[in-house]
Amino acid sequence: MLTIKNLHAEIDNKSILKGVDLEVKPGEMHAIMGRNGSGKSTLSNVITGRDNYLITNGNIHLENESIVDWTPEKRSLEGIFMSFQYPVVIPGVNNTYFLKAALNAKRKYLGQKELDAAGFLKVIKEKLNELDMDPKFLQRPVNQGFSGGEKKRNEILQMLTLEPKLAILDETDSGLDIDALKIIAEGVNRYRNSKRSFLVITHYQRLLKYIQPDFIHVLIDGKIVKSGGKELALELEEKGYNWLDS
Ligand code: ADP
Ligand code: MG
Repeated sequence: MLTIKNLHAEIDNKSILKGVDLEVKPGEMHAIMGRNGSGKSTLSNVITGRDNYLITNGNIHLENESIVDWTPEKRSLEGIFMSFQYPVVIPGVNNTYFLKAALNAKRKYLGQKELDAAGFLKVIKEKLNELDMDPKFLQRPVNQGFSGGEKKRNEILQMLTLEPKLAILDETDSGLDIDALKIIAEGVNRYRNSKRSFLVITHYQRLLKYIQPDFIHVLIDGKIVKSGGKELALELEEKGYNWLDS
């Protein structure tokens, strides 16, 4: 699904990623852990094609195609999704309108029929239910006045609506109380199947109690310094990251 080779990237002439290698197969969930500032969000931003990040070496492939020259829009239409660590507020744009436009843009790209208002409402009501979200969130501008936890839920609502094949969740657990964390984890777990892949970024072990990744990687100073199974999270919980510093 996703193959990253020797990825080096910088922002504002500052080198952040210093040789990342990662392979995520269909159906797999990988977690990236690491201290604040280790480059986790940079990695997700570079995969999704955010402006101002410069790839200075290496490559990123989605299903055998290099994506580094693709626009963020194309990456999204091709099935990459990212939930932001800091979700953006879009004043004046109603949440339903936003989700419907995004979904229909994708359906159009895939040669599927666009949904009308009634068709879309049917789809979205089901997803809202899954996330235990009040339908009133649909009528509000995207994320405006949403609490931290509500914004994170809204990000997952976008994921369930757009049905990506590769979902990148950047610190989706931050700002969530335990009940919301469980609901989101259930939503994510239900969404998992043999064709979809996940990159879950977190610096806490907590999330990984509810969402169990197949592999865990530790990012330190822009490099993956250790990879392992889910037992690695427990080891990190116990020992922190210092033992991995070179
Ligand atoms: P993480 O998500 O692991 O906490 P980030 O990828 O957000 O880490 O940041 C990695 C490093 O890149 C940090 O040291 C951060 O200060 C730096 N960084 C991020 N954005 C910029 C920028 N626009 N200009 C300079 N440095 C930046
Ligand atoms: Mg981050």
